[in-house]
Amino acid sequence: MKTAVFSTRRYDQTLLQQANCDAGHELVFVQDRLTVETASLAGGCAAVCVFVNDAVDAAVLERLAAQGTRIVATRSTGFNHIDAAAAKSLGIAVVRVTDYSPHSVAEFAVGLLLAVNRKIVRASIRTRDGNFELDGLMGFDLHGKTVGVIGTGKIGTIFARIMAGFGCTVLGHDAFEKPEFEQLGGRYVDLPTLMARSDVVSLHCPLTPETAHIVDAASLAQLKRGAILVNTSRGGLIDTEAATEALKTGQLGGLAIDVYEQEASLFFQDLSSTVITDDVIQRLVSFPNVIVTGHQAFFTVEAIGQIMATTIASLSAFERGEPLVNRIPE
Ligand code: NAD
Repeated sequence: MKTAVFSTRRYDQTLLQQANCDAGHELVFVQDRLTVETASLAGGCAAVCVFVNDAVDAAVLERLAAQGTRIVATRSTGFNHIDAAAAKSLGIAVVRVTDYSPHSVAEFAVGLLLAVNRKIVRASIRTRDGNFELDGLMGFDLHGKTVGVIGTGKIGTIFARIMAGFGCTVLGHDAFEKPEFEQLGGRYVDLPTLMARSDVVSLHCPLTPETAHIVDAASLAQLKRGAILVNTSRGGLIDTEAATEALKTGQLGGLAIDVYEQEASLFFQDLSSTVITDDVIQRLVSFPNVIVTGHQAFFTVEAIGQIMATTIASLSAFERGEPLVNRIPE
């Protein structure tokens, strides 16, 4: 099946081609993001494959439908970048990758937490410059502290289990409580209680209208003073400007993010020779107690292999008229 694959980098092309060896779909790689302007590059493609920062809104879907696209496959778990209702009304099927190493993201969240708490990045930069001072590098023991997990699904539960292994008390907040989370020793509380009691808060819920800015000025004010916030889920969960204000006052003691509200125009590209006009991210990276990474939590051999294999399997199932097990929920 002819498939336009948007937002591709070299590794996407190599790994998707490997996964496609037996299936033999005709893959057309496009480096650009999918937008109304670039949608024409998918002309004649029955399938379109996208990633997290492609804008798969109603206008784009209408254009794709008019060009003959019948399925959109996102190489991600989250599908907040796709207008599911518009796709349904246009008769375009949407599939995602529900099951790929949740360990990749949970382990990265732990890495971010350790790095920001123990100032590992700052320390490494110092030693490269011949500075072996410890001033300004003090962190706190995680053992004995309380960690709040918002969203206790696949990734949140693994993160919680790792934190329990560190000797932390684990609190959770979820719209649908899971026995597995309680079995590992986690305790569900309401959001204000989680914010008030936690020394560390980590976000693992999807971005939906209900969770947009779940961390805003009001919830940051409820936070235990000096707590660390980790976000490996979606940028829109945090009101970034409110978080910046909380960092300035010390209400927020540290911030480690792999995702950012306005990441679409920044992430997955080398902008080191250009002037970045996004003042919010520039202010954030200037704080000594902030770490920003460019949406790489999923980026492990295991996760990428599974993402590519599942994507190709979904395209093949669609072509053969078989049920789509990875269809997004309606
Ligand atoms: P999941 O569906 O297994 O878990 C999500 C959990 O959030 C569920 O338990 C759900 O009940 C809960 N939830 C839904 N609405 C909620 C609400 N209003 N308040 C509290 N909890 C709510 O998903 P997962 O595989 O654990 O992935 C979680 C998120 O991680 C994805 O939605 C995606 O945004 C993000 N993600 C990021 C990366 C990355 O590279 N940074 C990679 C994969 C996934």
